[in-house]
Amino acid sequence: MKPLHYLLIFFLLLTSLLFAEPTFYYNSNFDRGDVVTVLVSDTNEYHTLELVNSFNEHIASNIFFPLNLNNFKGQAALIGLESTLKAGVYTLIIKKDGLVESKGEILIHENLFKKENISLNYDNTTLRTSTNPKITSEAVFIHEIYGTSRLFSVSGNKSLTIPIKQGIYTSWYGDRRNFIYTNGESSGSIHSGIDIAAPFGTKISAGYAGKVVFSGERIITGNSVVIEYMPGVYGIFFHLNEYLVTLGENVTEDTAIGTLGSSGLATGPHLHWEIRVAGVSVNPDSLLKSGLIDNSLIISIVDSYTAE
Ligand SMILES: [Zn+2]
Repeated sequence: MKPLHYLLIFFLLLTSLLFAEPTFYYNSNFDRGDVVTVLVSDTNEYHTLELVNSFNEHIASNIFFPLNLNNFKGQAALIGLESTLKAGVYTLIIKKDGLVESKGEILIHENLFKKENISLNYDNTTLRTSTNPKITSEAVFIHEIYGTSRLFSVSGNKSLTIPIKQGIYTSWYGDRRNFIYTNGESSGSIHSGIDIAAPFGTKISAGYAGKVVFSGERIITGNSVVIEYMPGVYGIFFHLNEYLVTLGENVTEDTAIGTLGSSGLATGPHLHWEIRVAGVSVNPDSLLKSGLIDNSLIISIVDSYTAE
């Protein structure tokens, strides 16, 4: 090769190093209740991910965190899609140091949810219509936990497992509920998790490794445990008979975090199992299929590497 060719190759290498933009990987079709996962194989920079609607209004956001898997190293950010979102096109905005680094569109489909009528007895009517300020302060406290994204690295990508193997679903994520009170009045709400019925005292496992960020008694949800799985990603367990873990404890997916009960506002022994991503409750069923870090996305990235 002539010296000029070396110079040209050097110049090409230099420009590709200077102007190479990181590639952000994500899927583009979602149902309401799904989790949007964005991956980037860039280990040096930290970015934030935001979702906006067609009017450019903020819907949700989360931080990127270091992700170290066997077949993928880089960063990930997860955003939950509320079950009440309007179907349509939304925009993902990836920012670095407050400046827009990349944008992309996703489509959210109008998947439907079940309708449920639930008759409450006198005690549960009293609980649900109570104006006790402690109920409000407990809600504020726990939502502050759900909205917290603490930065830490995540390694390994075990799949999410169901917390009770032999349970029966009695209520689903996103159910449009109508609570009927003893006085004949009623009020609506949307179910933020899945209810699983099983014998009283059945052991409940964490489902994924993490750290206990709440274990205690709450008026509405009874004995409750919250586990931080990933930055801004929480597993939530309500109505326990007893909790078996303490604040700050590290758990594996198999750790028994409590036993099934009917504490708090419950019409019978069941586990209310919920997963929150950046403050938003999402469909645990879709995460059981995809994994907390979307496995199909990882596979398609690995395939694109080998295709090059
Ligand atoms: Zn529930």
